[in-house]
Amino acid sequence: MNLKFRSTIFTALLLGAASINFSASVPDEGMYPLSDLNRAGLKKAGLKINETDIYNPGNIGLVDALVQVSGCSGSFVSPNGLIITNHHCAFSAVQLASTPAFNYLQNGFVAQNQEQEIEAKGLTIRITESYEDVSAKILNAVAHVTDPVERINIIQKKRQELAREAEKKDPSIKAEVSEMFMGKSYVLFHYKTIEDVRLVYIPRQDIGEFGGETDNWVWPRHTGDFSFLRAYVAPDGKSAKYAKTNVPYKPKKHLKVNPNGVNENDFVFILGYPGRTFRHRPAAYIAYQQQYLLPYTSELYDFQNNQMLQAGKDDKATELALATRVKRNANVLKNYRGKLKGLRNIDLIGAKQQEDVELATFIASKPELKAKYATLMQDIDNHYKLVFTDAQKELWMNNLYTGIRSLQLANTIYDFKEALAKQPSEKAKKAFFDGNIDRLKKSLSDVFESFNLQADKNIAAHMFAQAQSFENKNVIQTIVNKNFTSVQQAEDYITGLIANSKVVNQELLLQEVLKDPASLLAYNDGLLGLAAAFSQEFAPFRAELKRREGVLNRLMGDYVAVKEVFQAKNFIPDANSTLRLTYGNIKGYSPVDAVYMSPFTTVKGLLEKGNSGNPEFTFPQAIEQAWLNKNFGPYTKPGTNDVPVNILYNMDTTGGNSGSPIMNAYGELIGVNFDRSYDATINDFAWNEAYSRSIGVDIRYVLWIADKIDNAQFIIKEMGVKN
Ligand code: ASP
Repeated sequence: MNLKFRSTIFTALLLGAASINFSASVPDEGMYPLSDLNRAGLKKAGLKINETDIYNPGNIGLVDALVQVSGCSGSFVSPNGLIITNHHCAFSAVQLASTPAFNYLQNGFVAQNQEQEIEAKGLTIRITESYEDVSAKILNAVAHVTDPVERINIIQKKRQELAREAEKKDPSIKAEVSEMFMGKSYVLFHYKTIEDVRLVYIPRQDIGEFGGETDNWVWPRHTGDFSFLRAYVAPDGKSAKYAKTNVPYKPKKHLKVNPNGVNENDFVFILGYPGRTFRHRPAAYIAYQQQYLLPYTSELYDFQNNQMLQAGKDDKATELALATRVKRNANVLKNYRGKLKGLRNIDLIGAKQQEDVELATFIASKPELKAKYATLMQDIDNHYKLVFTDAQKELWMNNLYTGIRSLQLANTIYDFKEALAKQPSEKAKKAFFDGNIDRLKKSLSDVFESFNLQADKNIAAHMFAQAQSFENKNVIQTIVNKNFTSVQQAEDYITGLIANSKVVNQELLLQEVLKDPASLLAYNDGLLGLAAAFSQEFAPFRAELKRREGVLNRLMGDYVAVKEVFQAKNFIPDANSTLRLTYGNIKGYSPVDAVYMSPFTTVKGLLEKGNSGNPEFTFPQAIEQAWLNKNFGPYTKPGTNDVPVNILYNMDTTGGNSGSPIMNAYGELIGVNFDRSYDATINDFAWNEAYSRSIGVDIRYVLWIADKIDNAQFIIKEMGVKN
C-alpha cells in the first residue's frame, strides 16, 4: 500500500476521531438496522422507490424476501420458495450430498424438476418478521448490580426470558434478543424458521469456486459464486423437518430480477445479515486482535489445513469429508492475514489511541461526565492489560476442541457422563440417558463426518508442543505435567491414547460405550482422562473469563455512550447477524499507486486467468466454446460484446453478507454479494471509502451460465425473467 493511500486513510480516521466537521460526500459506513433506515438518506443517495417499499411495519416490503441461510444471506426469487444465495453458502450441504461416484461438488447439480431436488443437510432458514426494542427491560434488571458475573448472568437470563415469553405468545415464531451495543441496547427479533431446504441448482466447482484460494478476497475476480435452493414447509404451511410430503414455501415477497444488470456509478443497495464487526471498540481491543488473535489463529489454521490437505491427497473420500473444514479455515486465515496487513498499513492502533486520549480529555473537561466516567478509560486499559496476560492460554483453549476432533469427542462424552453420574437414582439416570442420547449421537456424528485420525494426531502434537512453551499465566498445567521435550513425544503420547480409546471409533462408541447408562458410567480410557483433566483445569479460568465479560459489558456500554456525546452523533450498531441495509455505488478504486481497478470483470478475463497454468483457474471448456462462438444471448454488457462476471462496489459488508441480494435503485435484483477485496478485510475494524470494496456476481453471468452452459433454463423461467 502506498504512502499516500495510507496517509489519506489515516487522516480520515483522525478526522472522525477528533470530530472535526467531516461531512463526507461519499456514502458513510453503515449497516443500518431496520429501526434506523430513516437515518440512511436513501432517497438523497439515489433510491427511486419509497423507503416504505423496503420496510413498512405491518405491510409487505422487500425485507420479506430476505432470508438468513445458516451463516449466510439469501433472497426469494420466485413465488415458489426459490432462493438465490452463494455457491460457498451451499458448499457444506453439497459436500454432504456428494460421494466420489456422485460428486455434485465437483460436477455441479441441476434438478430439472422439484422431484429431483435433494435435501440440503445442515441448512436452515430464518426470516425476520418483526422487532422490538427491549433495552430498558434488560438494563433495568441490572441497574443496581455491581458484581460482573451476576450482571452477565442476569443479562443472559433476561434475554432468554424475553425470547421465551415472545415464543409463548406466538408459537409460530422463534425469538431472539440481540445485543446491538454491548451493555447499552438490546432488540427482540421475531423470526419465522424453515427447516426443510433443498438443493436446486449448484454450478460445478470450477465455476462456483473458480479461482479458489488464489483469488479469494481478491479483485479482479471471476467467480460464479451463486447457487439456488428451495424452502419447503409442511402442507399446512408450518415449518417441518425434511419430508417427501412437504411442499414449496410461498414467501410473502420475492425479488424481481432485472436481467439488464447495472452500470458503473449506479446506485445500489444490499439487504442481508452481516455477522460481526468491531468498530466501536477502544485501541486496546484492536491491539488484542493485532498482537494475539489474528496471528495465532491464522498460523494455527494454516498448520491444520496442511495436515488435512495431506490426509486427503490420495483419497477422494477423505478429501471430500474434509473439504468444508479446509475451506472455512482457508477463508478465515486469508481474511486474518489481510486484516494484519491492513492494520499495519493504516496504524489503526495509533489512530484509536489518539481517539481514546481525546475522549479521556473530553471526559475530564465536562464535570457531569467526569462525575460518571472519571475512571472509565483507565478501567478499560486495566481490563485489557489483564486480558493480555493470559491471551495465549485463552486462544489455545478456544481452539483445542475445534482443532483436535478426538478431544472434542472425548470432551462431549465426558460432559455427558458427568451429567449422567450426577443423576440421583437409577431411574433418573435412565430417564436422563433416554432423554438426551439422540441429541448426543447427532452431535457426535457431526464431528465424525469431518474427522481424520492422522490429521488429528498431527494437530494435537503441534498444539501440545506449543503449549509446552507457554509461560507465566499462560501455563497449561495438564500439558506441563506431561513434560514433552519434542513434538514427536507429544505425537507418541496422543497416538497411544487414541489407539486405546473406543471414543474415536464410531461403531465401538455407539455399540459399546453408549449402549446404556451402566456401560457409559463404567467406561474409562486415557483420552477421556485427558479431557477430564482439561475440563477441570479450565473450569476456574472459564469462570474468570465470564467475570471479565461482565466487566467489559459495563465498560463498553459506557464507552459507546460517552463517545456518542463526544462525537455528537448516534452510532450505527456493529454487525451482529441481524438484518441490515447498506448502500453505495458500483465503483472501482485505487488500491496501489498508479493502479485503478475498474468495477466489472468479463468472461475474457476469466479465460485469460485460465491460461496461467494455476489449476485453481481451470474452467469448463463449454465456457470457452460459448465465448468463442459469441454465444452470449441477451446477457452482454452494453458496449463490451462480452458477458460481465463480477462487480465491485463501495457498500459496507462483512461475513454473513455472503449471498445478499444486490439491488438497483428500483429494488430489483442485479447481483449477489459474495466477498470483499483484500484491503477491505479490515472493514470489520474500520470502514473507509478509499479501500472498502465488496464483490458480487453479476446477475447477467448467473443467467448466462444457467442458460448457455448448464442447461438450467427452468431457473430463468421460474424467476420470471423475460429477455
Ligand atoms: N466471502 C466472505 C466470507 O466468506 C464474505 C465477506 O466477508 O465479505 O465471509
